[in-house]
Amino acid sequence: MGEANRVNFYGLSLLELEEYLLRHDFKKFHAGQIFEWVYQKRMIDPEHMTNLSKCLRTFLNDTFSFSLLEIQTIHESEDQTKKYLFKLEDGHLIESVLMRHDYGNSVCVTSQVGCNMGCAFCASGLAKKVRNLSLEELVGQVVAIGTNEQIRVSHVVVMGTGEPFDNYEAIVRFIALINHDKGLAIGQRHITVSTAGIVPKIMAYANEPIRSNLAISLHAPNDQLRTRLMPINKSYPIRKILEATDYYFSKTSRRVTFEYVLLKGVNDQKEHIDQLAKLMKGRNAYVNVIPYNVVKEFAFLPTDNAQAMIFVDGLMKQGIQATLRKEQGSDIAAACGQLRRRWDSKNPDDCD
Ligand code: SAH
Repeated sequence: MGEANRVNFYGLSLLELEEYLLRHDFKKFHAGQIFEWVYQKRMIDPEHMTNLSKCLRTFLNDTFSFSLLEIQTIHESEDQTKKYLFKLEDGHLIESVLMRHDYGNSVCVTSQVGCNMGCAFCASGLAKKVRNLSLEELVGQVVAIGTNEQIRVSHVVVMGTGEPFDNYEAIVRFIALINHDKGLAIGQRHITVSTAGIVPKIMAYANEPIRSNLAISLHAPNDQLRTRLMPINKSYPIRKILEATDYYFSKTSRRVTFEYVLLKGVNDQKEHIDQLAKLMKGRNAYVNVIPYNVVKEFAFLPTDNAQAMIFVDGLMKQGIQATLRKEQGSDIAAACGQLRRRWDSKNPDDCD
């Protein structure tokens, strides 16, 4: 069977692999062994899966493709952050970021080719969504980076290009797979999904059996300003988002993070601190204040450090939990909001 006809291994849950094996007269417990080889021992050649019979190894070889996402380039930042550019099978390019922390290795995953949210400050929205990423392309980003670096990826943030809740089904399956103890075994509390605020999907996520930390990109404390910065606010205004996160909290008892990128003179003034504190009051919420990373196409400027501290302190003085995020990788355009759709210069047809 040619490579193209094979089933992509990274698109299968453990249960689906078990069913697949059963249908082909193999015992289902082998699925767990195969998962451990691939996801934990990073062995993707069935020939070397030594606890499997020759017959099963041949079957795996003939049936599945274990090939990793194709790495186009890797850029390394001064702080050791690495930006991976992957080439997908249909030629589209996506970016993922590896961040080294003292607590582990974190991968920032892209959820779509392009993005339709159109946030006024974010590079990812400069090119419209072309398509959702498949489960295997989501898992593939984490596996390819772990394998290439020979490291265990301990944390995943779905904060790359795209709106994860606009690719909901694949994202939920992705989280289940990377969380599975025979998969990458990444704890639910080590996975974070960030959404621009797709309210029905926040509600749905509250009812999933497996979920991650949830972060909401708020970025403005009133609807007028938020609509200007994030057009999605016309469909799902702040009040609706808070209703959804209250519901999420009632179902999960998990604290929600609100992300707030500081734009100089736009959303970083005293009135904004007070409005934001009022929104957060009485909620088990946490505000992650993010320094703005400059995107050359936009006129926004970052708030200076002193004002950023005033902003965080102002929230804390009003009893709101808040921290200032440390940004990594901005020198290689790998920081939040700097990932964008790129194209292959050798394949100009790919370009919009
Ligand atoms: N669509 C999702 C996932 C993107 S996550 C979402 O909106 O949450 C990326 C995070 O970085 C979001 O909070 C986004 O608003 C923020 N961001 C976008 N552009 C940025 C920039 N230039 N500097 C800092 N943060 C930015």
